[in-house]
Amino acid sequence: MASRRSFIQIASGGSVALGLGFRDLFAQAVAYVMGSAPGAETVINGRRCLYFGGTGYYAFQEHPLLLSAARQALKQYGMHSATSRNIYGNTPVYLEVEKKASEFFATEDAAYLASGYLSNIAGFQGLVQTGQYDLFVVDERAHYSITDFVYALQKPVFTFAHTDPEDLGKQLKAHVKAGERPLVISDGIFPTFGVVAPVPEYVKVLEPYQGAIWLDDAHAIGVLGPHGRGTYEYYGLASDKLFFGGTLSKAIGAFGGIVPGKKNLVQAIRAGHIMNGATASPSPAAAAAIKGMTLLMEHPELRARLWKNARTLKTGLKQLGFPMNDTPVPVAAWTLKSGQDMDRVHDELMKRGICIQRTRYVGAGAEGALRAVVFATHTPEQIQRLLAELKTLV
Ligand code: PMP
Repeated sequence: MASRRSFIQIASGGSVALGLGFRDLFAQAVAYVMGSAPGAETVINGRRCLYFGGTGYYAFQEHPLLLSAARQALKQYGMHSATSRNIYGNTPVYLEVEKKASEFFATEDAAYLASGYLSNIAGFQGLVQTGQYDLFVVDERAHYSITDFVYALQKPVFTFAHTDPEDLGKQLKAHVKAGERPLVISDGIFPTFGVVAPVPEYVKVLEPYQGAIWLDDAHAIGVLGPHGRGTYEYYGLASDKLFFGGTLSKAIGAFGGIVPGKKNLVQAIRAGHIMNGATASPSPAAAAAIKGMTLLMEHPELRARLWKNARTLKTGLKQLGFPMNDTPVPVAAWTLKSGQDMDRVHDELMKRGICIQRTRYVGAGAEGALRAVVFATHTPEQIQRLLAELKTLV
């Protein structure tokens, strides 16, 4: 019989979706082509639309200060160092991103990686190196970047029901042996429906164990918490056992992944395979990331504007009869009675010059969902226009 350590068990009855809806996604990707940077208005298929897709929460992807920082770095350092950072590939911009991220997140250090997707695996590898856990317990709807990689680390993997602390407790009880240290893994904000993981409850459930938590905070970085430090800050949680990674491509407006944390974890990541085996991020992206974090530190009012827009959008959607959470997360998704119905609403809005997503992203379910994301740069009138047009269609 296979030992518990040599196979993957889907403990909660959930399954980890692999490759779901690939053909549909590809058809959509070909049908809609962006012709500008993402912003409140974005060119799609040659036409300027009111845009509620994507996750450029502050529209920094088109911000003049980020673009000029990127241009300057491009001129000075070229595209990138054409080798990994540990093999003579370091430049001042890469070092500065990490310094700025340590300031932004108030951590001892931070590791800068080539993508947010990689920051989860880099974080897990770093935690293995520093010997901080023995098995993984993963939310069944965690992002692909978790579920694609968590199995590669040759530790037992179990899942728990989506955002369910009670089931997490059951799984821990069933699978953690005396002295073992579980790592609970979840998204901070789940990307499709914009749900925030109930992390304080996880912390409570973990109390009897020598456990730790890892969050993929890709959508929470720059968005949640008084300083935009993410999900832990949103809940007012701080401890040596709370780890996270994320992306600089969304709220920060640039590109690349980040793992802020204690020096020993960051050093382990720097010494790891990814830093040694992957070309460093493009220098312009790194320079833009520094500027994005600086702007968010200097302008807390941007966060307030984003939260206000999130409230306006979600209040309006609630009035249309769609269940919405009350968090400041600027992502709202809902379903209609059939997939065809959702296709119809999406396509009709597009005809009227409004782009929302018809999404089949992780956790969206078989029929997918409709998803609208507000940016800090949307005006109240733009949000009301979306709501008014939507009202005529549902
Ligand atoms: N985690 C989540 C939850 C995401 O939604 C994404 C990006 N869509 C990533 C990780 C990956 O980040 P990146 O795009 O920087 O690779």
